[in-house]
Amino acid sequence: MSNKLVDFHCHLDLYPDFGDLVRECDQYEVYTLAVTTTPRAWKRNQELASSTKYVRAALGLHPQLIVEHASEIELWEELLPKSRYVGEVGLDGSPKFYKSLSLQKDIFYRILTACANSGGKIISIHSYRAVSTVLDMIEQYMPFNKGKIILHWFTGTKSESSRAIELGCFFSINEQMFQNERLCKIIKTIPIERILTETDGPFITYNGQTIRPKDTIRCIAKLAELRGIDGKYLQDQIVNNLRLLLCE
Ligand code: MN
Repeated sequence: MSNKLVDFHCHLDLYPDFGDLVRECDQYEVYTLAVTTTPRAWKRNQELASSTKYVRAALGLHPQLIVEHASEIELWEELLPKSRYVGEVGLDGSPKFYKSLSLQKDIFYRILTACANSGGKIISIHSYRAVSTVLDMIEQYMPFNKGKIILHWFTGTKSESSRAIELGCFFSINEQMFQNERLCKIIKTIPIERILTETDGPFITYNGQTIRPKDTIRCIAKLAELRGIDGKYLQDQIVNNLRLLLCE
């Protein structure tokens, strides 16, 4: 048995100690997906990640930044052949970003079709208040065998979760999600082999401290308790889920 962990959605480059944190992921054996919010940020992430065993950089264009950064889709498309991992991408339908939803959809369409055309991409997707539309677009533009989808911080309904499962999606779960009883009920029903863990750091704090990738051990404990299974068993299962996801 190992002590390896998985943090499959973390903004390492938004921490003040970015470089140290990358090394910390290796030291604690946390398989970490360093998501980015713009393609400009990807190069530095890729440089730092390339010397590690456990960190991988994902090429992103965050839906909340589309108004100011939509033109960066061209750089994103140019860099895509260099990156197996994609994220953070998706749609955000909350009031603050609703006005840009139509532009967000144009960009997300380009992202999904580019990923489907190249094949084999692993994509971390934001779907806050836009789950149905995100699933519609995945169904339409991302054929099942053309890439792997991970829904980050899923907040949809039970029927949306069932639909996502049918579409082959994975779910990266963070510890904040357990504070929502409705989400807990959904998390209980997701097939265990479709679950990964994440922090979405640095946007979550615990006891006044910013969450770090190694803290996914707390998420494991909460998830194990919720599902009534052994934590160590679950920890290994999640590492295995990631291995299968990456080798298929
Ligand atoms: Mn995020």
